[in-house]
Amino acid sequence: MFKPEKFQGQKACVLGFGRSGRQAAALLARHGFNVLISEEHAMPQARRVDLPAGVEVETGGHSGKVFDCGFIVKSPGILPKSAVLTEARKRKIPVFSELEVALAFAPKGLCVLAVSGTNGKTTTTALLGEILKEYCARRAAQRRVFVAGNIGAPVSAAADELKPHDFLVLEVSSYQLEDSTFFRPKVACLLNITPDHLDHHGGMEKYVQAKARLFKNQRANDFAVLNGGDRYCAQLAPGLKGVLKAFSAQPSHALKTDVFFDGDEIIFSEGYHLRPPKLKGIHNIENAMAAALCALEVQVPADIIQAVFNRFEPMEHRIEPFAYHRGVVYVNDSKATNLDSTMIALKSFEKNPHIWLILGGRDKGASYEVLLPYLKAYCKEVLSIGECMDKIERELKGEFPITRCGTLDKAVDLAMARAKKGDVVLLSPACASFDQFQDYEERGRVFKRLVNERVKQQRIGAEEETR
Ligand code: ADP
Repeated sequence: MFKPEKFQGQKACVLGFGRSGRQAAALLARHGFNVLISEEHAMPQARRVDLPAGVEVETGGHSGKVFDCGFIVKSPGILPKSAVLTEARKRKIPVFSELEVALAFAPKGLCVLAVSGTNGKTTTTALLGEILKEYCARRAAQRRVFVAGNIGAPVSAAADELKPHDFLVLEVSSYQLEDSTFFRPKVACLLNITPDHLDHHGGMEKYVQAKARLFKNQRANDFAVLNGGDRYCAQLAPGLKGVLKAFSAQPSHALKTDVFFDGDEIIFSEGYHLRPPKLKGIHNIENAMAAALCALEVQVPADIIQAVFNRFEPMEHRIEPFAYHRGVVYVNDSKATNLDSTMIALKSFEKNPHIWLILGGRDKGASYEVLLPYLKAYCKEVLSIGECMDKIERELKGEFPITRCGTLDKAVDLAMARAKKGDVVLLSPACASFDQFQDYEERGRVFKRLVNERVKQQRIGAEEETR
């Protein structure tokens, strides 16, 4: 456990010059520590970043100075098996996660709710954050809500502002959990576990173990919210110490659930009925169930949850409908950076071949063949873009119509020329964005701009014709 007083006077080493590394360093410096940030990659921009006095930076490799420090704070992206961590462990230098260090400065009495899972973390965390903010606004004005972690700011940025009885809603990834040994959320929610980030953790078993840390330190008066339809989540149930609350929107599930979906409303065993938010897809019903269960456990009344469900809009880049033109709907799902997410997006539409799917980018290694049944059931055509066009063609050719477009620009042109009333044009690329864009957010924004510009031009053109 990281106790600041135990390490007072010792130098801290923060591994990684990312957002959470810089915030952890600033937090430690505010509390009187001298800090070395050590970054493996060359980062010429590092010199221009403003950092508090007492923070030294080295980039382009880890020097021996790392091992002169009294303890190490690890940024989430650093591989557990990396040479620098292996050496630190050999020398018995304590290693802590950014999350753990940040929470060591948080006050007692803080109500921590943590959401993890392979998919759905951001949506569920945002929804839960909104519910708690509404609750504080209506019923508990002296309490405040902070939403942090993977979403928004790192916890280190918020740590000094937190007061006892505030709510801290955290989106936590397996990277943050793997080095957290004392993390104890009042409410811990695990949405699902499917194979992902296996390279980082060193296999599925280690990945599940990292997720299980969410519940490890809970006690009998804490709550564990689990997906009862997910076999990996269900495996964790027997080892839980807190009160188990299980959810599933699927008809069959491994655990007895406390909430189900009747096709229209979400129904809780306590008797509440809630209409779900207007988000597409059964996966979002599960996200809503999870957020509601977490909120109910901290005494938020059901009518407040319903009020937030009623107004909650799709989040940007996640099956986000953003334009309607000549009977065609344009949907941005740029956050779909793996095959699973694209399948989930397709399944959220009506089952008939009406979707023009923009697919491709930087390949992630898996085969596109798994998409075939979904393409046949939901899509008219694939418009391929990016580095992996050849692979997509090799794997789908002869089985499904594909047009090579290369760029998003061309794909949008083609889709707009050919889509008919009732069709959907969906960007759900199943790939990383880094071949053509800075990140998935830029890819999504470019897509929306390209469509909106053309819609505007076509509308102006049509108005001029009628004059
Ligand atoms: P995360 O933060 O875990 O990446 P997001 O809320 O940003 O999750 O959603 C990313 C994508 O993951 C969505 O576009 C959707 O395709 C998929 N997804 C979201 N929620 C779920 C869920 N409960 N189960 C499975 N897939 C989901």
